[in-house]
Amino acid sequence: MGLDILKIYPKLKTCGLKIFQALRAWENFICSSHNSCCCRKLISLTPLSLLFFSSRGQVLVTVAAGMTLLLGMAAITVDAGTLYLQRQRLANAVDAAALAGAQELPARPALAYQQAMAYAEQNGCSPEEVVVQIAPSNKKITVTAQRQIPLFFARTLGHQTASVSAQATAAVSPVKALMGAAPLSIEEQILVFGEEYTLKSAPSEGGGEPLYGWYGPLSLGGSGARSYCQNLKYGYESELRVGDVVATETGNMSGPTVEGIAYRVDACHHDPPCTFEHFAPGCPRVLLVPVIVAQETSGNQIKTVRIQGFAAFFIENYARQGNECEIRGRFVHTAVSAPYDESLPGYGVYAVHLEAG
Ligand SMILES: [Zn+2]
Repeated sequence: MGLDILKIYPKLKTCGLKIFQALRAWENFICSSHNSCCCRKLISLTPLSLLFFSSRGQVLVTVAAGMTLLLGMAAITVDAGTLYLQRQRLANAVDAAALAGAQELPARPALAYQQAMAYAEQNGCSPEEVVVQIAPSNKKITVTAQRQIPLFFARTLGHQTASVSAQATAAVSPVKALMGAAPLSIEEQILVFGEEYTLKSAPSEGGGEPLYGWYGPLSLGGSGARSYCQNLKYGYESELRVGDVVATETGNMSGPTVEGIAYRVDACHHDPPCTFEHFAPGCPRVLLVPVIVAQETSGNQIKTVRIQGFAAFFIENYARQGNECEIRGRFVHTAVSAPYDESLPGYGVYAVHLEAG
């Protein structure tokens, strides 16, 4: 643990006052014990002058000089320590504010601004101390805080206050690898925030074979209904990376699709209830879905796909009719903790990170 300079500050102050009082008492003692003509003249002089003329002055001069040096060092330490401490508090506040604001980027810059201001305030900053700036790309947010700190010892040198400031920039970048992906997919395309997309189609949709006889499920970590259902409920436990080639899951998978999606929708107990416009971080109704292009086909069916990125969708509904089930979700943006690559195109799943200042 580091030394809390504010805790020892009152003790140093008290100690300094006691030393000063002791010197004054010692001065009075010398004057009273040298009630001579010389000393009576000296009594009107400054204490320091008295020390030089006193018979015991050499010792006192040494003590006083030592104490002056000690107090001077304490002054520098205490004022500098206070400024350092306040600078660290501001740095922590702007870091937290920038990271909180970036969670809403790039889709909602106005909300990002509000979040950044709210977190700065929660971390001890007043609104007047904080400036929040969002880059035109909506992918970076910079929070700056500045504060005037009253000084104690430096006032003797004419400095009443000192200014400390801190700045942090948080950015959102497309993720290049992800754990917890849903075993579904969406073809590479321009995705529009809030629009509804089909993540798993049903045989009757679009004439029965939406994409070369494949309905959209992926085989992650093994094929079969059980593996698919587990991945749909909890997310694939291993990492998928941009550039990976994965196998498709053949068949309609209607039963496990219903079971998996119903589990996720029922698992959202957030209050207020989540919507695509405002959902709690990590809400189970948000699916992280690989964005894919066909890699290998056999006959008229896609066998493998290549992962181009990762998109996020909020499940609003799922429909089961007989042996058919389709999943539709609204395209959203979400922040996760994952490796990122700024050169990749963004598909809605972003990593939030602080930039080196
Ligand atoms: Zn929720």
